[in-house]
Amino acid sequence: KVANTRRDWAHKLSTTIIRDNQAVYVENLAVAGLTRTRLATSVHDAGWSQFVAMLEYKAVRYRRHFGKIDRWFPSSKLCSACGTIAESMPLNIREWTCPCGAAHDRDVNAAINILAAGQAERLNDCGAQVRPGLVPAPREEAVTHPEPHARQTGISVL
Ligand SMILES: [Zn+2]
Repeated sequence: KVANTRRDWAHKLSTTIIRDNQAVYVENLAVAGLTRTRLATSVHDAGWSQFVAMLEYKAVRYRRHFGKIDRWFPSSKLCSACGTIAESMPLNIREWTCPCGAAHDRDVNAAINILAAGQAERLNDCGAQVRPGLVPAPREEAVTHPEPHARQTGISVL
């Protein structure tokens, strides 16, 4: 029963996140490493891998951009205001102030950095490849063959 409740919650949250955002970026956490730390319980409880997998396939379904940020990116140590990287950032530190004067909530600062890194990576991607999905279909073709995403929008993911 607990597993079902958890999966249901993960489905609802991932659907909301994907529907409400054009692009979603996640940090590619070293889950295997975290499970050996005192954060093990929260990582397992959150079903992180399962949740990320849901985000990924729903992003495809809703034609959103989805990206994973390298796990070695210093999202927590990096000051999102000035770019300075703090020497250490133990997990128990939830708020910190950079020498530049910027006061940070650990998670909000990390989220800002992950978003910026994801957007930078996406710009590189766009320059390197042409995406067939972004090419509009000719008018007559659109009439005889509705675009795939037009049909998908009606499908409930729950
Ligand atoms: Zn700073």
